[in-house]
Amino acid sequence: MASLIGLTGGIGAGKTTVAQVFNTLGIPVFNADDVAKELMQTSPVIKDQLIKTFGYKVYASNGILDKTYLAGIVFKDKYQLELLNAIVHPITIQAAMDWAATQTAPYVIKEAALIFESAAAEGLDAVIGVSAPLDLRIQRVMQRDACTKQEVEQRMQYQISDAIKLKLCDWVIENNDRDLVIPQVIKVNEAILAKMVASNG
Ligand code: ATP
Repeated sequence: MASLIGLTGGIGAGKTTVAQVFNTLGIPVFNADDVAKELMQTSPVIKDQLIKTFGYKVYASNGILDKTYLAGIVFKDKYQLELLNAIVHPITIQAAMDWAATQTAPYVIKEAALIFESAAAEGLDAVIGVSAPLDLRIQRVMQRDACTKQEVEQRMQYQISDAIKLKLCDWVIENNDRDLVIPQVIKVNEAILAKMVASNG
């Protein structure tokens, strides 16, 4: 089975952007946040638990997840967000492991906003962090999602701070407006491959 390397960072730090660079080096990427959203639409277990927990209105009459309704509940109340994560995370973590087991690349990347906040770190061989200054992250997300500063800050408050998160990472990629990303990704890729050679004897 390919080694599973986590890629994390706060909202708007540039996880997806950095993941794309790894992908151009031939490294397969599992986007846990996208898969989680997909599973909320396709997994009968998750659907059943979401309806039991948040009510039938979570799905519109055509069966499509009502993201606005759900966001209205979970981004106002930390307890409700924890309930949502408790329903969605275990099945997403298992999906990442199943996917990694089918890959033949030397290692694969699991991109996820929340790694240390959930049990997701347990199945990982190492974790890469993506770091960017807070004001730049806010600006990027406001521009990407056409939303307000308050809306971005509301989502940020449920993530542990970068200062703590990045200390737990094995490597950190600086994605600010000064450092170049591609040379940093190449360096981390080499370090991961070297680490694998060392641990294989
Ligand atoms: P989220 O947690 O919200 O999914 P993310 O960490 O995956 O965010 P990205 O989607 O990669 O972050 O980046 C946020 C936005 O900032 C995107 O629109 C992206 O194109 C832009 N961006 C990221 N890095 C850079 C960069 N180095 N230079 C310019 N724009 C960037």
